[in-house]
Amino acid sequence: MSFEVSWQSQKASVQKIMLNKAVLMKCMLAAILALLLGGCGLRHARVDTHESLNAALWIQTSAEYTATTLQTYRIAASNLDLALADPHWTAALEQVGDYTGLPAAIVLDLDQTVLDTGSYNARIILQHGSHAGESFLDWCQQVTAPAIPGVKDFIEYAVKRGVNVIYNSARNEDLRDCTARNLQALGLPLAEPQHLLLNDGTASTSKEQQRAWVASQYRILLLVGDNLNDFVGGTRTDAATRRVIANQHAGRWGREWIILPNPMFGSWEYSLYDFEYDLSRDERLRRKYPQLQQ
Ligand SMILES: [Mg+2]
Repeated sequence: MSFEVSWQSQKASVQKIMLNKAVLMKCMLAAILALLLGGCGLRHARVDTHESLNAALWIQTSAEYTATTLQTYRIAASNLDLALADPHWTAALEQVGDYTGLPAAIVLDLDQTVLDTGSYNARIILQHGSHAGESFLDWCQQVTAPAIPGVKDFIEYAVKRGVNVIYNSARNEDLRDCTARNLQALGLPLAEPQHLLLNDGTASTSKEQQRAWVASQYRILLLVGDNLNDFVGGTRTDAATRRVIANQHAGRWGREWIILPNPMFGSWEYSLYDFEYDLSRDERLRRKYPQLQQ
């Protein structure tokens, strides 16, 4: 081998080693960059979420919600005994005249009072949507709503004591069939069709007017609901005024008025955007944030 050939060979080897080093460096830099970007990504990536997520999970998964509704219905059963023992007891502001001889009734709202709509709200969250009549009808027709924990025992207790059970709901009339089937599937009583009061869009089927009708036929022992309008009229107003109304009736809560928590939906939320149901989710959020109190 001549000196010239040997030199060329050594030069080629050195160049190859340098090339490999360069490739290795590039690979290491790329790996470090990927780690840095990946780390940043994990720290700052926005998880796609929905403003009702925690509320629905609380209803669907927490022991605390179950404990709360069991507690609530236990108090309701105890108060039912007091109400039956006192012929002058009434829960309805709409109860007028001599009602002492009327048959006894309890009036319950349906959604998040008797029937758990959590799975419908879960659907809304997963689809990044909002409540809509069409999707609610579709869900209702599946007849899958479970009973709120404690409500069945309470209602059975009331029936055993000879008390009529009347449901006063804001559900539309087109939901009558699936609603009645859901009550039946849960073994909840519906003695007569007029014991399921729904809304046909007219003023006469507002909750207040429906209560007035029930009060003309029965002595209302207890009102049970999750919304201020399950108890009293004039609640379609701003949040501060709604709280004033709640305080005006402080002596009724936990006695003849039995309320359950519902952080998923209700007039409490609608009042934050002036009951403008057609607003987009973004616009609702824009109206809600300034109402946070720091
Ligand atoms: Mg309700």
